[in-house]
Amino acid sequence: MGGTFDPIHHGHLVAASEAQARFALDEVVFVPTGRPWQKAHREVSPAEHRYLMTVIATAANPRFEVSRVDIERDGPTYTIDTLRDIAAQRPDADLFFITGADAMAQILTWRDHDELFELAQFVACTRPGHELDEAMMSDLPQGRVTILEIPALAISSTACRDRVRSGQPVWYLVPDGVVQYVAKHELYAPTEGIVPA
Ligand code: ATP
Ligand code: MG
Repeated sequence: MGGTFDPIHHGHLVAASEAQARFALDEVVFVPTGRPWQKAHREVSPAEHRYLMTVIATAANPRFEVSRVDIERDGPTYTIDTLRDIAAQRPDADLFFITGADAMAQILTWRDHDELFELAQFVACTRPGHELDEAMMSDLPQGRVTILEIPALAISSTACRDRVRSGQPVWYLVPDGVVQYVAKHELYAPTEGIVPA
């Protein structure tokens, strides 16, 4: 499961857990992006912070792992490179790429998307506020994408960052350890002009 994880939240964790159960996956590998090319327009927190928050959030689950492949590769992160690296490390594995509906909708704009579907089965998790367009889905290779209906959690990292910035709590939206990590490192600190509560 690729993501910026800035910060990781319970929407990510529920999607990962549902995909693990539905496909009886041996492990779910969370892969924090290096520099996400789709997010070039905004500041993304340093990779090491996003990596550590992902470790904290997943540490208790024996089937959850975190990979550094994307943060250790130079340049912008492309999912094709992520899949190639993960496949090289696990030559016998059947790979599933877990993604949310919004990211799935963008997939045809991704680099080398034909090869993407050869490397992995795609799991498109439903996400509140993001419809999976039938016409778009019919453009995707048959049998390589499964839509997975997950319990709706209308949580986004953007909303979490905005809440921290404006002094609102993020307890129960993100794991407790992530709340504490964000506070300790003063991530998403209030920008000038906004007075925290
Ligand atoms: P941002 O608001 O910064 O874009 P985000 O909440 O969308 O953050 P990402 O790190 O961009 O989180 O998402 C990683 C993956 O998790 C994407 O495939 C995204 O679609 C999926 N995802 C994120 N939040 C949810 C959610 N609440 N339910 C289902 N899938 C989600
Ligand atoms: Mg997103």
